[in-house]
Formats: sequence, structure tokens, C-alpha cells
Amino acid sequence: MAQKSESAKAAKKANAWLKYNDKKRKEVNALAEDYKAFLSANKTERECVKSAVELAKKNGYKDLKDLIKAGTKLKAGDKVYYNNMGKALALFIIGTRPLEDGMKILGAHVDSPRLDLKQVPLYENTEQALLDTHYYGGIKKYQWVTLPLALHGVVAKKDGSVIELNIGEDENDPVFEVSDLLVHLAAKQVEKTGAKVIEGEDLNILVGSEPLKGIDKDAVKENLLKILKEKYDMDEDDFLSAEIEAVPAGPARDLGLDRSMITGYGHDDRVCAYTSLVAMLETKSVDRTAACLLVDKEEIGSVGATGMQSFFFENAIAELVNLTGDYSELKVRRALANSHMLSSDVSAAFDPNYPDVFETKNAAYFGKGIVYNKYTGVKGKSGSNDANAEYIAQIRAAMDKNDVAFQTAELGKIDVGGGGTIAYIMAKYNMQVIDAGVPVLCMHSPWEIVSKSDVYEAKQAYLAFLKEI
Ligand code: MN
Ligand code: MN
Repeated sequence: MAQKSESAKAAKKANAWLKYNDKKRKEVNALAEDYKAFLSANKTERECVKSAVELAKKNGYKDLKDLIKAGTKLKAGDKVYYNNMGKALALFIIGTRPLEDGMKILGAHVDSPRLDLKQVPLYENTEQALLDTHYYGGIKKYQWVTLPLALHGVVAKKDGSVIELNIGEDENDPVFEVSDLLVHLAAKQVEKTGAKVIEGEDLNILVGSEPLKGIDKDAVKENLLKILKEKYDMDEDDFLSAEIEAVPAGPARDLGLDRSMITGYGHDDRVCAYTSLVAMLETKSVDRTAACLLVDKEEIGSVGATGMQSFFFENAIAELVNLTGDYSELKVRRALANSHMLSSDVSAAFDPNYPDVFETKNAAYFGKGIVYNKYTGVKGKSGSNDANAEYIAQIRAAMDKNDVAFQTAELGKIDVGGGGTIAYIMAKYNMQVIDAGVPVLCMHSPWEIVSKSDVYEAKQAYLAFLKEI
């Protein structure tokens, strides 16, 4: 009997809100305010990296590329950042121990599902002007219609200049919208399966309806081109070399009468990215070199030069080895292989509206703290990084020692679905890696939900990791 009650206790973790005194509660809410501001202001990978660089500079971080150019040697306590094409970022605090002893790495991604404008997006139909999109990441397409959208991104011009766009966030800005069929005429549409109710080519954003006077053909489109020229010095061809993302318009907000949660766009995975970054910036010195990675392209397989499969991180480590002593490839390999990593990405929070897809003992819950996933993957753990038991024991000890609320979970029932993160890519270097993250409701929807206490516990977990591992 004793054993049974013991295991029941292990499975049922206490709600983190219950352990907070007034001071802690204030910390939880202060972090939530900072996080909401970050999430509201940064809705693309580029915006996240730009803001992270600004925060890093304010906290004494120097551009590693400048130091490489100057050949400036690095010493313990030095803080540097490595910006990869403005879409991915690595931050480092040089440790007192040699790099060969390995690093403590926090990693998360800053890209989120959205609608990207196609390269040739603008067209007119029946005196409505629309922008054609190609969705990015896994979305339920029907969730992205009839809600206010903002346009964020860059337009790179032939002369080398880059125009930054952000339309729809200021309350005086216009917003944009994808239409959906009125219910009165939707008898056939609503009989379709969820995947087909709205299809990829239906996601066209309404951007105008007023014709330019004195023009015979496509006068609404012509009027928009005139506005783009006047406001942004942009020609239609400039869409060819643009990256413009349509994202839900408006700020992250408190959710619930008790204001215990946050609804916002892009918690996946900026909630882990922001808390990792804050923990990194609050950490002043380390024994083994600390790293914080904010990467792009996770939602489409971590591919490309700015995704985790790129060599940019390995290259950065080679540069660090070179600037902290005598370079050798062996030292680079050892630095990577002796490392420990928290590969952070959001977990699925248990949803009481859809209990059937979860296995309750191994599900993540709001208010129970950071989630550790020993493995992710699909079916028989396919494609998963399966963290070593010994490493998990180290993590548990670090969390308990620092009074951090944590839980363990799988992403739903075994045969229902699955997912992946950047963990398996880092594990290729032979380092210890475990998936960690914040539970999220409505993942990949325009407005995702997190618990403020989990945001706080995630940051505390990252601080504890950087201190203890
Ligand atoms: Mn993610
Ligand atoms: Mn995702």
C-alpha cells in the first residue's frame, strides 16, 4: 500500500501557484508582463533576433564577428553573440573551464507558423485586391480566416537596401483578413473534412477595394501599387525579393478572470526562447561555457542556413576554440561531445475539451511547471532523441535543489500523432540532450495559450540548469 500511494504522489505534481508567497507572485507577474511585451513586439524570427541582440548588447555582449575580425582573444566571463543572417542567434558566456570540457546549452526556436506572401502575391479580382500566400509550418488552415492579420517582414531591393514592414500592430494601422464563405451559402463547404474546408490556395488576404481614377484595368491593384510606392518606395517586382509574413494582429493579452494565463501569437516557441534568453542574460559567470541558441526554420524541419541543421553553431564553436586558445578540430569535437543541452520547445497542455488524445499520467498540465520529454517522435519513438536516464537524474536533482516545478510528459497518446524538435540534431554531436518546454493550449493556432506560472518555472529551470549542470 505504501508503495502505491508513493507512486500516486509522484504522478500527481502540486500546482506551482500554491507554492508562491507574495514576493514570488510578483516575480511571476513581472516576468509575464515582460514576456507579453516581447511577444507582442516580435512576431517574426527576424524581429526576435533583432530584439535579442539589442537586449544582449545592453547586457554587455559583444559581436563575435567583430572579435574574429580583430583576432581578439576571449577569456572567462566574456560574453559574445553570433548573429546568423538576422534569423538565428547564438549567445555565449565564456566559462572558467576550457571549452573542451563541454558547454551548457539552452536552445529554442523563434520561427512560428504563419502565412508567407508568395513571391508574386498581388492580384485583383472583381475589384478586390488580394495577396496570395503560402502557409509556413503545420496549421489547421480553417483557423486562419476571418481574423485581423498584420504584415511583418522585409523587402530587399536591388540597390542593396532593405525596407522593414510592420503594418497592422499600431491601433491606427489598417489590418488585413482572409475571407470565409457565409454560412448561408456554405452547405457544401461544411460537409468537407477539416483539412479541406479551407485549402492552401484559399488563403488569400484582402488588401484593397478602392480603384485608382482614370485607370481601365486592375485599378484597385494599381491604387495599391501607388500606395506601396509612396509609403515604402516599393515596386511590384520588389515582392520577388521580399519576406513578408501575415500574422495575427494585436498584442498578447491576459487570459482568464484570474489573469493566470496569456493568449498570444507564437508562444511556440518564443515562450521557451524568451525565458532561455532572460535566464542567459541574468547569468553572470559560469564554470563551463554557457550557450543560448535561438534558431529559425524549426517548424519546417530545421532546414536551411538559419535552421539547426546548418553548420552555423559548429562554426561558432570553432571560432570560440580559436579565440580561447590554440585551435584544433579535436577540441571542437570535444567541446560539442562533452556538452549538455536543454532543447526547449513547447509541449501540448492537457485539453479538457479533448481528453481522448492524452494519456493522463504522461500528459503536461498548466501550472505544473516546465515539461521534460524523455522522448518525442511518432509511434515507436520514431525520429526521437531519447534522453539518457543518467542525464535525466542530473536534471531532476538540479530542479529539486532549486525548487523548480517540473513535470514529465509525452505528446499525446502513442498512436494518435507526434512531433519533433531540434534535439536529435544536437544529439548527433554525441552530447546529452533532453527536450524541455512550456505547456501550450491550442498549439499552432493563431492565439495560443500558456500559464504564467509555467513561463516563470521555465525561466527558473533554465537558471538552475546554467548553475548546476
Ligand atoms: Mn515548436
Ligand atoms: Mn511548432
